[in-house]
Amino acid sequence: MLRVLRNGLLAGILGVVLLSCQVPIHRQTRFSMSTTLTVLVSAARDPDWQGLFDFVDRKAWQFDHRQEGSPISRLNRDRGGNPPEEVLRVLAIAQSVAGASGGAFDPTILPLTRLWSFDTGGVLPAEQQIEHTRRQVDYSKAVLAGDGTVTLAEEAVIDLGGIAKGAVVDLIADHLDGLGYEDFLIDAGGDILVSGLKQGRNPWRIAIRHPRDSQAVLGVLDVGEKGSRIAVVTSGDYERYFESDGRRYHHILDPRSGYPAGELVSVTIIAPECTLADALSTAVFVLGPGEGMDLLAKYPGSEGLLIAEREGKLIAWKTSGFPGELDALDYVTK
Ligand code: ADP
Ligand code: MG
Repeated sequence: MLRVLRNGLLAGILGVVLLSCQVPIHRQTRFSMSTTLTVLVSAARDPDWQGLFDFVDRKAWQFDHRQEGSPISRLNRDRGGNPPEEVLRVLAIAQSVAGASGGAFDPTILPLTRLWSFDTGGVLPAEQQIEHTRRQVDYSKAVLAGDGTVTLAEEAVIDLGGIAKGAVVDLIADHLDGLGYEDFLIDAGGDILVSGLKQGRNPWRIAIRHPRDSQAVLGVLDVGEKGSRIAVVTSGDYERYFESDGRRYHHILDPRSGYPAGELVSVTIIAPECTLADALSTAVFVLGPGEGMDLLAKYPGSEGLLIAEREGKLIAWKTSGFPGELDALDYVTK
């Protein structure tokens, strides 16, 4: 009896010791880049949160065409120039995805995004205005030379809204790396990057939201690997939209028609970098399932889950390497 008690006590003490050895998780959430930015860090010490969020503001500013004096607003104003290396890198990825998607993703979308005014709630423009404006969108008018010079021909103007959040998330990851952190998760309103493992030993758990029920999840992905980064980015038609005459108009525009892309309701991309995953999620959303799956095949290491709504039912497509089973879905291909 005494031995049982003593063993129980020992096990209890051991449990407490093991628990206290678990690496703590530090967490902060701020409103940034027009969304909720959450950072979780698994480490003994708390990061300097104020320093981190100041860093985020400085980086986000670089990509924002609305900020006077930012590298992108200067490119738009001066019809080109020599932006900093970090901005050039993002422009190069944007142009790569623009080319590979046949312009479904187009960083010169600004005339159209201005017309639809999603920043200030959104308005339904007249058909002729859309028709006229969509002709100003053409990524081939933005030329990146080998020496880092950008030239914007004719009326081309840049909006990196479809890739900037992912780019900032990658820069936050570099920053945390530089501070010596290995295990962390960054979530900028659905642009997620995980590094390493939760508490150094378990995968991070990422919920995939139900596109038609903000309280429900379609499933949970367990992702993470010691010493590596994985980005999981979702674009959905529920993120930013307005309704007019019972129709939903959301902020991912098809440059070919000038209207919101209509084939899919949600796209989740997994890739080694958040910048690329962000551009691909927008591109695949615009392309729809057929061409969208073809685009992913051009980017080795990228995986996708594409969801459409047909007659009130969700149907899905996913690439062969997309992890996990999301049971609530009917798959067109598996
Ligand atoms: P979210 O901001 O909801 O994560 P996205 O990453 O898909 O969604 O980005 C949407 C933003 O991308 C829009 O607000 C707009 O600035 C820009 N955008 C919209 N359509 C396109 C497009 N076809 N190509 C490139 N950028 C786009
Ligand atoms: Mg995007």
